[in-house]
Amino acid sequence: MEISRMGAAEVDAAVRAARAAQRPWAALAPVERGRILYRMAELVRRDAEALAVLEATDTGKPLRQARADAALAARYFEFYAGAADKHHGQVIPFQPGHQVVAKREPRGVTGHILPWNYPLQMTARTLAPALVTGNTVVLKAAEDACATAIRLFELFAEAGLPAGVAHLITGYGAEAGAALAGHAGIDYLSFTGSTATGRTIMEACARFTRPLTLELGGKSPQLLFADADLDAALPVILNAILQNGGQTCSAGSRLLVEAPIARRVTDWLAHRFNNLSVGPALEDPEVGPLISAKQRDRVSGMLREAVGAGARVVAQTQVPDLPGFFVAPTLLADAAPSSSIQQEEVFGPVLVVTPFRTVNQAVALANGTPYGLTAGIWTRDLSRAHDLCDRVRAGQVFINTYGAGGGVELPFGGTKASGFGREKGMAALDEVTELKTVVLKYL
Ligand code: NAD
Repeated sequence: MEISRMGAAEVDAAVRAARAAQRPWAALAPVERGRILYRMAELVRRDAEALAVLEATDTGKPLRQARADAALAARYFEFYAGAADKHHGQVIPFQPGHQVVAKREPRGVTGHILPWNYPLQMTARTLAPALVTGNTVVLKAAEDACATAIRLFELFAEAGLPAGVAHLITGYGAEAGAALAGHAGIDYLSFTGSTATGRTIMEACARFTRPLTLELGGKSPQLLFADADLDAALPVILNAILQNGGQTCSAGSRLLVEAPIARRVTDWLAHRFNNLSVGPALEDPEVGPLISAKQRDRVSGMLREAVGAGARVVAQTQVPDLPGFFVAPTLLADAAPSSSIQQEEVFGPVLVVTPFRTVNQAVALANGTPYGLTAGIWTRDLSRAHDLCDRVRAGQVFINTYGAGGGVELPFGGTKASGFGREKGMAALDEVTELKTVVLKYL
């Protein structure tokens, strides 16, 4: 498949066309925009298997994950289609003889820059709320994986999205991405990707005082207490790091376990980490290859550094001698809390286990990284769980579950270096709209 290497000229043409299309698109009744998104949901469901195979082939993710992604993409279109005529403004009690309303207006032309790890579901997640509220959109897909984004844009035409409303830009970050982030004609930018690139994007937006949402990296902790239902917890904890080969912003990459059960938990995980199925995406293994040689080398390098700094390899599944960027899924212990493997996002199938003795120690470890995206708490003591919810800094906290089945309905985003702003749920609609306060004095 050949992908166009677009740059400043294509971005400029897309932004201009999006500007021209914005007023007519916003002038449609919300329910009309919603109907087009409903059609998108139906088309994605019609083509779900083909989209899943395309996504698995493009990214290396196991087929089961790609199928889940296709189902989620349909759900995003469906959810925001339903929200089209339910995103209300406010009527504000003010002085007598006045009527004051605060109404929601589209931002105008919105820019969207995406990473390579979940292109299918993330294209739907970022575009559906923007489109349904009357914005026109320009999306820069990731250079490492954009096949399903291309296909979704073909489906937009089939669904009846008017010409000019949605534009896809393919190409490299430093060229096409930077051109979009630095374009004066964008009214809002949504960026999902690494924290380092997010900071560059923020600087580009500052020049225009342009609002933005940053969905960045994570180093999410799982806090496992001795009273937890381990039979229920451990398979979920394992999946939280292995899903998509660990290339998930909300991967549960740090397991903090109460000392009395640390041995038992580590033994269970070691058995699994020694015996995972690793193979090509279309054979639907538990762990597929990583996205690129660059990502494989980054993860392998971080593993080597961790061991050099004193971490112990507890278990590791050997990788097959096949083409593809495989990395051995690895369980680590004895890593110092301040070490890179505990502090930096690995974005690979690497889980670090760390025991704790007190709740205060668990909280200090949980909060002791630059990130704050998600957290998991496993305990039967609900008072403790709620107390911890208040004390752990994260945009989403799960109690006795993790990930919650995709969570299209659940506001999602980070604190600290994980970014700001919220996607998913009704909260996403606030990001892509502006509140206009209108004050009317009775004559
Ligand atoms: P990345 O930051 O390298 O790239 C993301 C996108 O930004 C790509 O489309 C890339 O082309 C573009 N880009 C790169 N440099 C740019 C520049 N100077 N100007 C404009 N655009 C530029 O991230 P990645 O490696 O593709 O993705 C992995 C990262 O994404 C991880 O850190 C992960 O945690 C994060 N992520 C976050 C979420 C979330 O919702 N919080 C979801 C998925 C991934």
